[in-house]
Amino acid sequence: MTDMNNHVVVIGAGHNGLVCAAYLARAGRQVTVLEAAEQPGGAAITREFAPGFKVSAAAHLLYMLDENVRKELSLDTAGLSFSQQDMKTTALAEDGNHLVMSKDAVQGANISSEDQAAMKEYRRLMGRFARLLHRMNNRIPPRVGSGNRDDTIGLAKTALAIRMLGRKDMREFLRMAGINMYDILQEYFDNPLLKGALSMEGVLGAKLGPRSNNSVFCALHRMSGMQGTALPAGGMGTVSDALASAAQKLGVKIRTSAAVTKVLLQGDRVGGVELQDGERITAGTVVSSADPKTTFLNLVGAKNLEAGFVRKIHNYRSFGNAAKLHLALQGPPEFKALNQSQLGDRLLIAPDMDYVERAFNHVKYGEHSAQPVLEITIPSLYDDSLAPAGQHVLSAVVQYAPYQLKSDWHNGKPVFTGQVIDTLAKYAPGIRDQILHCELLTPVDIEKEFRISGGHWHHGELALDQFMMLRPVPRAAQYASPLNGLFMCGAGSHPGGGVMGSAGRNAARAILALESSEGQQP
Ligand SMILES: Cc1cc2nc3c(=O)[nH]c(=O)nc-3n(C[C@H](O)[C@H](O)[C@H](O)COP(=O)(O)OP(=O)(O)OC[C@H]3O[C@@H](n4cnc5c(N)ncnc54)[C@H](O)[C@@H]3O)c2cc1C
Repeated sequence: MTDMNNHVVVIGAGHNGLVCAAYLARAGRQVTVLEAAEQPGGAAITREFAPGFKVSAAAHLLYMLDENVRKELSLDTAGLSFSQQDMKTTALAEDGNHLVMSKDAVQGANISSEDQAAMKEYRRLMGRFARLLHRMNNRIPPRVGSGNRDDTIGLAKTALAIRMLGRKDMREFLRMAGINMYDILQEYFDNPLLKGALSMEGVLGAKLGPRSNNSVFCALHRMSGMQGTALPAGGMGTVSDALASAAQKLGVKIRTSAAVTKVLLQGDRVGGVELQDGERITAGTVVSSADPKTTFLNLVGAKNLEAGFVRKIHNYRSFGNAAKLHLALQGPPEFKALNQSQLGDRLLIAPDMDYVERAFNHVKYGEHSAQPVLEITIPSLYDDSLAPAGQHVLSAVVQYAPYQLKSDWHNGKPVFTGQVIDTLAKYAPGIRDQILHCELLTPVDIEKEFRISGGHWHHGELALDQFMMLRPVPRAAQYASPLNGLFMCGAGSHPGGGVMGSAGRNAARAILALESSEGQQP
């Protein structure tokens, strides 16, 4: 029988929902995860997109998974394994003079010894700042001005961590946080291709160009996983399957094809949820891994929330700009002057920073980029479970593709798809003839398939005004909400998106800490 007070419902079996559920079950809570899709994983799944061809349907590279989650939930014994780790990045040049980057090294025909030395210093400094964010990723953001002892300690720890950088690096940190990738990369490097490739780190998944504020912050967030880039064996779904299996071992019940339509209220407390078919499930605690707009505007309903809070959720910036391209290929693609081992690298099309900025410019006017930037992987080179023998899968994140396209995506999608293939063909001239099947997911498709309002990579822009104790908005930060018993645990909460699991883990800790402090009250 279900003990309502001990019963927790988690909305959504994305990787963060699964992580949160597992930690709550480990602490003795009775947990049910309700997932609208037919399989768990959210934006971290593997699925077939053409007969015999499988792909990581949104997230395709793993570089942020929280080591605590991996160890504490024993993901390696639950099935997590890799087909490739510590991948190199190759920045593609149309003339075949590519650059290969690994950790703090860069090599290529046109790279100077000055740029090679500058790369070491750039990576050292950015690595130091990313480590700072890495520590913050695993903390429940403190509340400013609450007068609470834990919040005061949390704020002091954050300030101390910045101070511990030392005077010189601290000044540099504050300076860099205030400018943009373009200016920083101009200071460090000469080679245009290197600058183009590095600038992509600051704009992937975001509504930003290299000259935009917050681009440095986004690059640091991406690096804050402090890990090499990896391909999970069997695609990104393997990460979610391992999490689902770890959660189930801890007693979590996962129900798929179970879309929640309403969070049920009893006064100012949650009382459970209602499903699409009318079934009601009672629970004393409801945790949502759905994005903030879906959670508060659709599932709770604006009429049940204060007008000021609803306005903030409406204004939360969450329109996506990244599309995803999947190609089923009849053989390995041939990129100009790229050998077989380089073909398996993370490949970038971002020839220089002005190219990336120009590609971004279109977004400001509701247009898709005519010459997009691409992050490409060919996972089937290492993993024959993804394609029939001798055939291959190409997976690419494509920017820029605004959610709110002026010409609407019904008309825009075929045009954009053609432009993406044209861009690819400049580097891999024969690719068009190798395509057996092509799938392009626009942010509107991503919204529909993964139920992410706006189709945004991070469930909402990652920016200093939507970060830490401001993420997604005040009063819904710290994984809480204005309603007693309703919590948040997805990418819309601190520290944001990427397959990391930190939001799910932090949320479980915040819920358990709050309940134990309530239990101690007279
Ligand atoms: C195109 C693209 C490429 C990306 N590439 C990468 C990458 O290479 N590497 C990386 O680390 N990250 C990448 N990301 C980001 C990453 O995929 C996400 O940030 C992350 O998966 C979010 O996880 P989550 O668990 O917080 O939310 P989600 O994965 O969105 O999970 C939320 C779950 O809630 C479910 N749900 C929503 N509403 C309801 C409801 N009413 N009832 C029941 N269930 C519901 C959804 O179906 C979903 O399963 C990419 C994202 C996109 C869009």
